[in-house]
Amino acid sequence: MKTQKLLLTFLKDSVDKPIVYHLVKDFDLITNIYRARITAEEKGSLILDITGSEENIDKGIAFIKEQGVTVDDAQKSFRWDEAVCTSCGNCLTHCPVNALHIQDTATMKVIFDSELCIDCLGCIDNCPYGACQSIFQE
Ligand code: SF4
Ligand code: SF4
Repeated sequence: MKTQKLLLTFLKDSVDKPIVYHLVKDFDLITNIYRARITAEEKGSLILDITGSEENIDKGIAFIKEQGVTVDDAQKSFRWDEAVCTSCGNCLTHCPVNALHIQDTATMKVIFDSELCIDCLGCIDNCPYGACQSIFQE
């Protein structure tokens, strides 16, 4: 058994497909939904964990793709724009896992470690320059 996090993007013609239902029923996967959103243009985004055998997870992901739904390898909705970041440091105390941090105190440049990020989105409202964004807050 293993657990894999997925970020799915549904276009307008696939947004009403019962993907999660089929993951549970046809592929014996346990699902845990973290966030879901449908935009005004009826584009959908969904973050969920799926748990099951490696074989069933692979089959489930192949099924999702067959439905015209995009599976994002980044597995997170959070995006950090290094070019926009001014290293002001305002976000640092709002990141619970130190994914945004200062690596070198000589330069005081803020950097982002995607591996550490848990996609909590706590930094977004605390970035005055818009360097922190999420597809769930567009
Ligand atoms: S989304 Fe959460 S974990 Fe990721 S960088 Fe922002 S505050 Fe840190
Ligand atoms: S608050 Fe925004 S601009 Fe400031 S260091 Fe953090 S990501 Fe960079």
